[in-house]
Amino acid sequence: MNKTTTINAYAANEAGGSLEPFTYEVGELKPNEVEIDVLYCGICHSDLSMVDNEWGMSEYPLVGGHEIIGKVSSVGENVVHLEIGGTVGLGWHSGYCGHCESCHSGDENLCASAEGTIVARHGGFADKVRADAASVIVVPEGIDLKSAGPLLCGGITVFNPLVQFDVKSTDKVAVIGIGGLGHIALKFLSKWGCEVTAFTSSESKREEALKLGAHKTLNSRDEAEIEAAAYSFDFIISTVNVKLDWNLYINTLRPKGRLHFVGATLEPLDIGAFPLIMGQRSVSGSPVGSPATIEQMFDFANRHQIQPQVEMFPMSDINKAFDRLKSGEARYRIVLSNE
Ligand SMILES: [Zn+2]
Ligand SMILES: [Zn+2]
Repeated sequence: MNKTTTINAYAANEAGGSLEPFTYEVGELKPNEVEIDVLYCGICHSDLSMVDNEWGMSEYPLVGGHEIIGKVSSVGENVVHLEIGGTVGLGWHSGYCGHCESCHSGDENLCASAEGTIVARHGGFADKVRADAASVIVVPEGIDLKSAGPLLCGGITVFNPLVQFDVKSTDKVAVIGIGGLGHIALKFLSKWGCEVTAFTSSESKREEALKLGAHKTLNSRDEAEIEAAAYSFDFIISTVNVKLDWNLYINTLRPKGRLHFVGATLEPLDIGAFPLIMGQRSVSGSPVGSPATIEQMFDFANRHQIQPQVEMFPMSDINKAFDRLKSGEARYRIVLSNE
């Protein structure tokens, strides 16, 4: 009687290992679950961190992939908001507890028991993936599906702070690091109405940043240039995962300005209290967004035709795609296709 489904995936079998074909069986769909036929799946830097067990929470075989765009192929009996054939997205979270203070407040992304799509379960580098329906987002018509995957992790990570901290169209905002996250941030912010500055150390990216929506660029390695930008910004989003001289950046904030981290730099922040106190400035961080904020982002991206800039690889070329990610040369996000 037990109905099983076979899922064809790519898995790393050890830390740092290459991705090998891997097949696994799943049983009957749970009442709150949906099964998704994966069309496209973005590769996020976190997939690499998980394959390499950088955060010490990887379990092998590990099937990465948490920027999933697909079609619903099956719905559990309690699922009412999704139908078979519908186009959906699945990001970093594949389920929430549903009853903690954060879940009750609409901040499911802060749920301490939220399930990670690739943490102790299998993600979207596969032909199918399953998830709790509460974490599955309807993708509105008009969104370009090939490039949409990266919105579900990279995109929402830089969109969420605009909502959480009420960034205004009159604000002057800077983005540190123009890569997978930063390039989407530039697109969102320029359409949000802000005056946008890109901090980048790469000469070639200065020109590209202007095309992506930045009004100005500053060299993130040029101390004098950064010093000259004192009291310039209301909000700075840092997407980099390297240590910079953060005090230098804090001095570029206007009074009540905020330096906000979405890039996970593993080295401790070395920040003086005095510039924070005197300017009433803040330092903060945030993860991906809630399902409602992801829906808001899709609406906004659709209205303004904002698309991540992606390079496509067939799913079967997943190892080549990972090499491309590691090279740091990708412009700007990589998407695997099951087509
Ligand atoms: Zn919860
Ligand atoms: Zn991610």
